[in-house]
Amino acid sequence: MSVVQTPWQAGTECVANYDFQRRTEQDLEFTKGEVLTIVAVTRDPNWYKAKNKGGQVGFIPANYVQKREGVKSGTKLSLMPWFHGKITREQAERLLYPPETGLFLVRESTNYPGDYTLCVSCEGKVEHYRIIYKSGKLTIDEEAYFENLMQLVEHYTNDADGLCTCLMKPKLMEGMVAAQDEFSRSGWALKMKDLKLLQIIGKGEFGDVMLGDYRGSKVAVKCIKNDATAQAFVAEALVMTQLRHNNLVQLLGVIVEDKSSLFIVTEFMAKGSLVDYLRSRGRSVLGGECLLKFSLDVSEGMEYLEDNNFVHRDLAARNVLVSEDNIAKVSDFGLTKEASATQDTSKLPVKWTAPEALREKLFSTKSDVWSFGILLWEIYSFGRVPYPRIALKDVVPRVEKGYKMESPDGCPVIVYELMKQCWHLDTTQRPSFRKLREQLEHIKAKELYQ
Ligand code: ADP
Ligand code: MG
Repeated sequence: MSVVQTPWQAGTECVANYDFQRRTEQDLEFTKGEVLTIVAVTRDPNWYKAKNKGGQVGFIPANYVQKREGVKSGTKLSLMPWFHGKITREQAERLLYPPETGLFLVRESTNYPGDYTLCVSCEGKVEHYRIIYKSGKLTIDEEAYFENLMQLVEHYTNDADGLCTCLMKPKLMEGMVAAQDEFSRSGWALKMKDLKLLQIIGKGEFGDVMLGDYRGSKVAVKCIKNDATAQAFVAEALVMTQLRHNNLVQLLGVIVEDKSSLFIVTEFMAKGSLVDYLRSRGRSVLGGECLLKFSLDVSEGMEYLEDNNFVHRDLAARNVLVSEDNIAKVSDFGLTKEASATQDTSKLPVKWTAPEALREKLFSTKSDVWSFGILLWEIYSFGRVPYPRIALKDVVPRVEKGYKMESPDGCPVIVYELMKQCWHLDTTQRPSFRKLREQLEHIKAKELYQ
């Protein structure tokens, strides 16, 4: 039986699974791991016309490459799909039935809170090994120590090292997909050997951001700190596989092959965060045209998120980055969820978050619009912290009574009017990003930014 495959459309991205040496002048040569964009189908379904990163165009064999897809939202990705949390010894034994030597899972210890238990099926019996948490490390035998559960599982997968058997097959938690497998399947997994880490360029809440070299081009790499935060990174990467816009920081791929670490590789934004950019250059360097351009850039990225039903939740100048050629792009999708999810409000950036989001966790594109108003204020005040001279605890009560920030010095009235529209307490009165983008375009076209 032959499978009819729908041809890939122009614009489809694929990743090379093998090196390809060209046979004719018209072929496009590539190496394993390269990302290519389909330009056109050909009469032969086995060949496509494609473009490489350098802009060269030529024919490529379809079976050498794999289509890159967005990871389906709603997919529950886990770096530790064998981790079942708080289940009892009996439940673990039921999960490992029928017996299959090497089938394993990890659970939280019921007898020793804070410790874990590794349960392994071995010749018809389930063995339970206590994993002790001792001075920041994990160990079973007090000989081999590990930073986290992923490293421990990796070790005993390669070598039984005193256990009844080595770990052979993870018993997956119901509904979970191994992140490693899913990123490979969808074409987003990169190889560690292609990446050189060069220097630290930023400190994130969850770990360092490093400058890297990936197959000759500069990239930014978010490095993981430990397994609890790794899971948050996976969520961030999952969102990023689905988004593509010139005003959003682009994901290049994820490295999960080395089980003890996780790296998120994105395009490198040479000029750093917008807030630092504004502060370091200031009024004397940045003219009205430039400020408007940044505002417009961000509104375009946000309009794309609006159209795709993504709510950012943490839009602020610190989370906008500036590229070598001065394009502002929205980054930091850590908190981004498809519209409707709930979250812990205690960690929210109060000065940027809409009142209804703080009060009732009502996050929406309209709460992003509120944050965009604050971001506009940051841009036109060259990176000042919002609500200057108001104590943090007084911000929310005053805002809820209708207080709005003054116009920054020298800000065009027409731009200040946009900010105030974003800060309507009634969400239905706030403009859409589409409207905001149109207004900003109008201001630009009529040169009203002076
Ligand atoms: P977090 O959200 O965990 O705090 P960020 O993603 O905001 O981390 O990154 C922290 C800092 O690292 C940023 O403020 C910026 O200076 C730098 N950085 C992050 N991503 C990039 C990038 N793609 N290119 C250049 N610098 C970056
Ligand atoms: Mg950040």
